Amino acid sequence: MGIKNQISFIHKQIGNEVCLVAVSKTKSESEIIEAYNCGQRVFGENKVQELVSKQNNLPKDINWHMIGHLQRNKVKYIAPFIDLIHAVDNIKLLKEINKQAKKNNRTIDCLIQIKISNEESKFGMEYKEVLELISSVNKSGFENINLTGFMGMASNTNNQDILKKEFSLLNSFFKELKQTNKNLTKISMGMSNDYQLAIECGSNMIRVGSNIFGSRN
Ligand SMILES: *Cc1c(COP(=O)(O)O)cnc(C)c1O
Repeated sequence: MGIKNQISFIHKQIGNEVCLVAVSKTKSESEIIEAYNCGQRVFGENKVQELVSKQNNLPKDINWHMIGHLQRNKVKYIAPFIDLIHAVDNIKLLKEINKQAKKNNRTIDCLIQIKISNEESKFGMEYKEVLELISSVNKSGFENINLTGFMGMASNTNNQDILKKEFSLLNSFFKELKQTNKNLTKISMGMSNDYQLAIECGSNMIRVGSNIFGSRN
């Protein structure tokens, strides 16, 4: 259908309350520009090297999101510009993000990745660990970090019941913690195959790649 049509189709579908992160990993800079030219400003990447090089070459008003697993020793490369880090799953990583943000005189927004799927390959924290992490963040007051919400990856399945269960689980956790943590406003869940269901289950940030740019090789 073409990048332009896909983007306007999805925007019409999801309205203004939901943020569309266009996942451009493995896609070329000219494909990103095509999306940019229809007004898309938020793009997601999952590899630091690719992200840094695209950020360097593309318009500076793009908001870059790191959506993949992030290694501590690579935080320094994205700290100068990154808009949101989706997949924080341990306190040491958070400490490093805080340190690098400080060096760059910035505050970096982060989401905690919560494990909602039973699949072994998925990263993320268990609920209990998240509660511990939030309380240590509150205590040690990482000044250069904003914990603004949660991210989850559902199982790789078409089974709507399973997906619904996983999304709802994340949403109930989000709603519960939001009551005492006013900074928690974002819930990042839903990808090309399941974003509509994710939105029905409370998502306000979807990460969509292949539905916009076509399948990846
Ligand atoms: C690749 C990726 C996506 C996008 O997947 P599509 O199925 O192409 O929409 C979303 N989230 C994360 C974390 C990804 O790595």
